[in-house]
Formats: sequence, structure tokens, C-alpha cells
Amino acid sequence: MQTPTYRSMPDIILSNGKKFMAAPGVSILDAAAQAHVFLPYSCKTGRCSSCKCKVVSGETLALTTELGLTQEELEQGWVLSCVRSAQTDLELEIDDLGGIALPSQKTIPCRISRIEHLAPDVVRVILRLPPAAVFTFLPGQYIDIIGPNGVRRSYSLANAPITDKTLELHIRAVEDGLMSDYWFKRAKENDLLRLTGPLGTFFLRETNGQDLVFLATGTGIAPVKAMLEALVEFPQELQPASVTVLWGGRTPADLYIDLPCLPDHYQFVPVLSRADKDWAGAKGYVYEALLQNAPSLSRTTVYACGSDAMIHSARKVLVAAGLPARQFYADAFVSSGNI
Ligand SMILES: Cc1cc2nc3c(=O)[nH]c(=O)nc-3n(C[C@H](O)[C@H](O)[C@H](O)COP(=O)(O)OP(=O)(O)OC[C@H]3O[C@@H](n4cnc5c(N)ncnc54)[C@H](O)[C@@H]3O)c2cc1C
Repeated sequence: MQTPTYRSMPDIILSNGKKFMAAPGVSILDAAAQAHVFLPYSCKTGRCSSCKCKVVSGETLALTTELGLTQEELEQGWVLSCVRSAQTDLELEIDDLGGIALPSQKTIPCRISRIEHLAPDVVRVILRLPPAAVFTFLPGQYIDIIGPNGVRRSYSLANAPITDKTLELHIRAVEDGLMSDYWFKRAKENDLLRLTGPLGTFFLRETNGQDLVFLATGTGIAPVKAMLEALVEFPQELQPASVTVLWGGRTPADLYIDLPCLPDHYQFVPVLSRADKDWAGAKGYVYEALLQNAPSLSRTTVYACGSDAMIHSARKVLVAAGLPARQFYADAFVSSGNI
């Protein structure tokens, strides 16, 4: 008689043939990372849909409600790898990040070095790391700040990696927000906090000879600023063919900082959705302003950061206009938690 074989851990296979095992109850995203297979992700709470992938075969279990998926997407077999576990062997329609090695994550103490208002509802926070700390990140990634009473919130890093051990954050006030209350009413220089990171897979991919478009709304400019600071320092052979930065707000006050000095062939387009009659610049939404320039989208790579609504609309409109879906990278500033 043949002895049955019992396997406690399902195998997961990706479109490109990469394979890893997943323990029950562990998210597909975490199981992959444990096996040094890195999948795209951002919020890790089932809200932003950066980690969306399709189940080709096998059974999965939702660990929490997938707010980032529509009912239609759920019915079509899409899941969010950050909040799904494998119940059986799985075949997924998604590739890993290829040869890109993500910097290792750590939790370290930090202190507020400086805090300043850039607009009535935006502060810039400069964090200082301990002298012995080694913290590396890719421009575009974010960190989680663990603040007073253990409240944990995500913030994009607004500066390119530098050697003076400071990190820059741009933080917008959210009404009745727990951490907003801290940043805007109580935070002061030298306060001790903790951070975990770097997190997320919003960072520059191939740049040389590419047409790059950055779309940002509000404090979504923070990771774009970090990417641009890095990009301008790239050697000539890695420089893109063109760079267009579209930053949107309702009124001029929403465009709260000057971007770093950009080379002449980088184009900066401020866009206002509630412009008054004196505004001579672009009007409407950032993706509309992009389309008005009739770019050749099949050769364009878009990096979008800001509100969930902007990112959903931008992806939908630009893909319908000819942008290959794989050339749209995004970080949505969804609500990052209840505690
Ligand atoms: C990957 C990532 C990166 C982020 N980076 C930044 C950044 O660089 N700068 C920045 O300002 N913010 C950023 N955020 C958002 C930030 O993490 C917080 O969620 C936000 O600042 C609110 O925190 P809070 O504690 O003040 O409010 P909370 O106490 O969390 O929320 C208060 C109320 O506001 C609602 N709410 C919370 N966030 C939002 C939102 N974004 N839109 C609409 N309603 C909301 C909540 O549902 C709740 O009802 C990022 C989020 C993610 C996921």
C-alpha cells in the first residue's frame, strides 16, 4: 500500500517560475520575503492594492477584509498578497522584483531634530538617527513611525539617502488624526520616537533612456522629491530621456515647497484643481494635465504618489490611454491604521 504524504506547507509558484513555501496563517507577501522572494507591496493593511495579484489555481484565505479590491476584482480571482494566506498549493499571476535587493528592515530609535511648518496643514520633520545606526533605503521608500502611546503611522522619506543620518518627512494634518494631533500640537525638538523601515517597493526602476513621469498630490511629493534628488546625481549613462513632474493641489498654497534644482531637460508642471482666474498654469487633475501634452505612453514609466483617489483614477485613465499597466508604479497614502 502506498503511504500518503502529508505536507504542512503549501508551495506557491509565481508567473516567472519562482517558488517558495508558505506557512499557514502567514501572508503570501511575508512568506515570500521569508524565502528572500520580494513581491511588490506598500501599505501592508489590505487597503492600497499595490500587492494585487491573480490566483491562477489553488485556495487562499483572507486574513482581513481586502478594502483595496472591488467586488468584481474579488470575483475575478484577484487577491492582496499582504493579507492573504495559502490554504493549498498556489499558482499566482505575478512576478517578484527580480534582481532588486531591498535594504533590510530594522526598528531603531530616532529624535526630532527640527520641525517646521511648510504650510498651515503641512509640517516638515527632520529626524536624527543615533550616531552608530546604519540605515539604508531606496529613494521613494517609506518608514513607520512609532509615536507616543505606540501609535504607528507610515510616512514617505522625502530626502535621498545621505550620510548625515537625518531623514526628512512631510506630514499633512488629518482631521481628528491621532498622530496629526501629536505632530501639529505636541511634537518638539529632541522628542524620542522609534521608526521601522525602510518599507515598500515604490522606488526607481530602469532609468536610462526612459521617459519618466512623476505624478504627485499633496504630501505625495515627498517620495518624488527623494527620487528626483537621487536621479539628478545619476551618471549620464543612467539619465532618463525625459523627466516630467506634475504636482497637483487645489490652490497654490497646497504646493508647499520648491523642488530641488532640476536640470533644464526636466519639466516641472504645477497643476491646480481649484485654480482662480489669475492662474495661468495647468488646471484639473495631474493625469489630465499629462494627457494634454499627448505623451507617447507606450514608452513612458509613471511613478504616482498621493491620495488613493488620484492613484486609482490615474491608473485607470492612463492605462486606457495606452500606458502599459506594468509601467505604472504607485504609493497610495491610505489611512495607515487605527492604533
Ligand atoms: C505607505 C504610506 C505612506 C504614507 N506617507 C505619508 C506621508 O509621507 N505624509 C503624510 O502626510 N501621510 C502619509 N501617509 C498617511 C499617514 O500614514 C497617516 O495615515 C495619516 O497621516 C493619518 O494619520 P493620523 O494618525 O493623523 O490619523 P488617524 O488617527 O489614522 O485617522 C483619523 C481619521 O482620518 C481618517 N484618515 C486617516 N488617513 C486618511 C487619509 N489619508 N485620507 C482620508 N482619511 C484618512 C481615518 O480613517 C480616521 O477616521 C502614508 C500612508 C501610507 C500607507
